[in-house]
Amino acid sequence: MFPILDTQIYGHRLVYLDNAATTQKPQQVIDTLTDYYRTLNSNIHRGAHRLAAEATERYEAVRRQVQSFINARSHREIVFTRGTTESINLVASSLGKLWNDQQLTHSHIHTFTHSPEVIVSGMEHHSNIVPWQLAGATLRVIPFSDEGVLDLDAYRALFNGNTRLVACTHVSNTLGTVNPVEEITRIAHEHGVPVLIDGAQAVAHMAVDVQAIGCDFYCFSGHKMYAPMGVGVMYGREEILDTLPPYQGGGEMIKDVTFERTTYNELPFRFEAGTPSVGDVLGLGSAIDFMLNYSCSPKLGELSAQPTEECVKTGLPAIQAHEESLMRYALEKLSTVPGIRFIGTAPRKAGVISFLLGDAHPYDVGTLLDKLGIAVRTGHHCTQPIMDRYGIPGTVRASFACYTTQADIDALHDALLRIAPMLQ
Ligand code: PLP
Repeated sequence: MFPILDTQIYGHRLVYLDNAATTQKPQQVIDTLTDYYRTLNSNIHRGAHRLAAEATERYEAVRRQVQSFINARSHREIVFTRGTTESINLVASSLGKLWNDQQLTHSHIHTFTHSPEVIVSGMEHHSNIVPWQLAGATLRVIPFSDEGVLDLDAYRALFNGNTRLVACTHVSNTLGTVNPVEEITRIAHEHGVPVLIDGAQAVAHMAVDVQAIGCDFYCFSGHKMYAPMGVGVMYGREEILDTLPPYQGGGEMIKDVTFERTTYNELPFRFEAGTPSVGDVLGLGSAIDFMLNYSCSPKLGELSAQPTEECVKTGLPAIQAHEESLMRYALEKLSTVPGIRFIGTAPRKAGVISFLLGDAHPYDVGTLLDKLGIAVRTGHHCTQPIMDRYGIPGTVRASFACYTTQADIDALHDALLRIAPMLQ
């Protein structure tokens, strides 16, 4: 089902535990991509010919599929981007322009201006930090405990008259913490402040309902949810998107262009300038189909393409159940490795185990694991503030997907036992 998982690395079976960086692709996603380029490739929306019409229809069908996947109210709220990073930059750039305009208007009335403030958590990926700095915002940071749990009392105290947005990750890519995004959103809305949730590490691991969360923006990447690289989603509530200036200018995002003035297209096209990555969007649709049809067999780690009677659950709840039991198994098994120290031990975790092995540098651990066919990630995982918080240079990170098995965890455990003496 996942052809790459049959690969041998230095004569060992590939044990792929770098799923938080990117997931592998099921055969059906690979087929969708190749079929698209073999039979359908054409530019969408503008063409009068048959291929363009069909490609447009299928592209727009995926938009509706994504709408239903995250339970958005309207397909107009689904904007295709290149990934989470571009989605957040889109929102930051458009909101930044608004804030700038408001500040200019304000400065006519008052003799001073305040810089806009954005509240972020202390466990954000750099892509949910830097865009806000580029937008000219001052960041206020929600602290977290040693276990990796956000301090919501401290969060409540961060709001003031300059707060313009709360931007928070749903699941930490380094600590694995699942944050209480519903509560975080509710508190922000009590202050009249909109909320952006970075869902990069959530959408492949649990059912996401943007209406239940109540957030104003929700961003994610296709490649972390079994889809091709090069496609992602920016969900934005229609009422808010309607008020935002465009992000990029070009084809497709306009209604009328003269040299004097341009009027913009309606949602969501206003935010999709230029030729999109059509094949990758179709691949995203295929990945969603894959996840919705996933079924958890009673025997941990077995995959079946079609739901069977003895399966407890299907779709995202099944993936979540599988990964949660795998997490319990892994924490128990790995805690028997001498010298292991887990970074991030929150009660609600999804898919990610970060650790250190004695005094060994994470990079050395990762390099030795690679020689045994085990792919993990090492370093700061684009979350340098988390490393500063713990006073460490980085971690070794093992992260799961729906195809991760107990055998993979056993292989990691055995390999750590084997390499630990070499690193003393
Ligand atoms: N946010 C989180 C929590 C992530 O884990 C990542 C990627 O690792 C990103 C954002 C950025 O995603 P991308 O590189 O796909 O844009």
